[in-house]
Amino acid sequence: MRNVAVSTDLIQQTINFHGHSCPGLAFGIRASELAMRYFNRASDEEIVAVVETDMCAVDAIQFLTGCTFGKGNLIHLDYGKNAFTFYRRHDGKGMRIMTRPNIFPKDSDELDTLQKKMIGNRLTPEEQKRYKKLMESRVKHIMGAKLEELFEAKPANGPVPKKARILESLICQSCGEMVMESRTRTFLGKTFCIPCFNAVEKKS
Ligand SMILES: [Zn+2]
Ligand SMILES: [Zn+2]
Repeated sequence: MRNVAVSTDLIQQTINFHGHSCPGLAFGIRASELAMRYFNRASDEEIVAVVETDMCAVDAIQFLTGCTFGKGNLIHLDYGKNAFTFYRRHDGKGMRIMTRPNIFPKDSDELDTLQKKMIGNRLTPEEQKRYKKLMESRVKHIMGAKLEELFEAKPANGPVPKKARILESLICQSCGEMVMESRTRTFLGKTFCIPCFNAVEKKS
């Protein structure tokens, strides 16, 4: 792992947090490393991450950069792209880290075929072994590569996302549960949570 700046111990902790080692997590570790080169770890809401995927990589980003859903400094845009933008609140600087295409040209066809078979549970024990090996070699490749080989980093094109506001909670007039004001819906003069609103609207 010649090019990794994250310690072996921290990598292991990240794998434990995620539950397994996989190429997606490895990309997240390396993207975090790149982000932390520019910004420090987000002990508070100083750093904000906007992630365009909800796959494995995001677990590494949460664990290593301190940008988490619970703190409100991790924002998910459901674009299905391995792109991660980090912003620093105090000066508004931002950087978008995009995973480069075609990082694994040699074994992609083989892995694609195996993956398709795996979804249908049709892998022979031999193929399972081969699949595992290919995935492991990808992790190795990602962990050992230079950051510039893996990612393209560009200044972020938008402003820093607004700070999470502490909003009032209201009581849904159908289920009686508390719900954040910004997530309520009004229908026929009543306040509803989203699932209750969906149910009432369907009936009418
Ligand atoms: Zn994973
Ligand atoms: Zn409700």
